[in-house]
Order: sequence, then structure tokens, then C-alpha cells
Amino acid sequence: GEAQSTDLNNLAEEYFKLAYHGIRSKDPDFNIEFVTDFDENLGQVKLVPQDIGRVLLNLYSNAFYAVKKKQTELNYAEGDQPPTLWLSTKRLKNSVTLKVRDNGTGIPTEILRKIFQPFFTTKPTGQGTGLGLSLSYDIIAKGYAGEIYVSSEPGIFTEFVICFPVN
Ligand code: ADP
Ligand code: MG
Repeated sequence: GEAQSTDLNNLAEEYFKLAYHGIRSKDPDFNIEFVTDFDENLGQVKLVPQDIGRVLLNLYSNAFYAVKKKQTELNYAEGDQPPTLWLSTKRLKNSVTLKVRDNGTGIPTEILRKIFQPFFTTKPTGQGTGLGLSLSYDIIAKGYAGEIYVSSEPGIFTEFVICFPVN
């Protein structure tokens, strides 16, 4: 794809819909709250929509998997916060930041440092290639001179932050 001026808020939302419809077509009972905090001053950002879209799709599908796993494998008490995906964008002077957070399983500390390695996955065979985050890292680092970080508290949340310079 070609770089083009893109409304990043809109892109992030459209790809959420794509991911959500995708999972619901296979798993009609799947539900997640989608909470957005868009920086309305984000403006147009020059990027290849399919590149950032691919990164977002993987973050969303990882989040879906994690909230579902938490619900099915751990005891999800009535009254707990429902499965939620938070998406926020922020325009700084010379950069943009995008955060994707979920309240799924979280990531154990000993695993956290491995998740950007190619082929690292904790998913059963056929359900994960372990390439999503390593590809995303390459796209953001090499294609956008940016960074992607993770923070997590097992059992509580996982948050990915993408930051790259603009203009
Ligand atoms: P895959 O999704 O094919 O496993 P990824 O590179 O996208 O590969 O992710 C690698 C691993 O990182 C996952 O298998 C999982 O263990 C962990 N992970 C990524 N995102 C999350 C998340 N939101 N919550 C919990 N674990 C995650
Ligand atoms: Mg993945």
C-alpha cells in the first residue's frame, strides 16, 4: 500500500469493527465493551492504512482472545468488570500515541519479554502463529521509526502503546 493522509481515529475504529465482526461471525456469543478516548485534535497522519490496520487487527484479536480466556478459564465473578477494550489516541507535538488496553488474562512477567519474538505464542496449535507482535514491531520500528511497548498486570490488564513521529 501507499502512504496517505489518514484519520487515525477513524482507522482505529473501522479496524475494531472489522475485528469484532470477524470474531462474532465465528463466535456469535462473544461480547466486549469498546471504550474510546480519541484525541479530536489528532488531525490527518501520513501512513499506510493497511500497515497500521494489520498492527491494530492483531492487537484487537489478542485482546479478544485474552478476555475470552479469562472468562472461560478463570472464575469470572458476577459483578466483575465486563470484558472491555479501551482504545485511546493522543497527539503530541511531533508524534502520535495509540493505546490498546484490555482486562483479559494479562501476561505473566516471565513471558512478557518474549512476546515480540517471532513464533512465540502461548496459543494452541492452529490458533496462533506467534508472528503478530514481531511483525507489528517491525512495521512500527522500521516503517514508522516508532516504538511499541507493553505493560501488564497478570489477571488485571494488558496495555500496548504505539508511538511514532509525525511531520
Ligand atoms: P499469537 O497471537 O499468534 O500468539 P502474537 O505475536 O500476536 O502471536 O502474540 C504473542 C503472545 O503474546 C500471545 O500468544 C500471548 O501469549 C501474548 N499476548 C499478546 N497480547 C496479549 C494480550 N492482550 N493479553 C494476553 N496475552 C497476550
Ligand atoms: Mg496475535
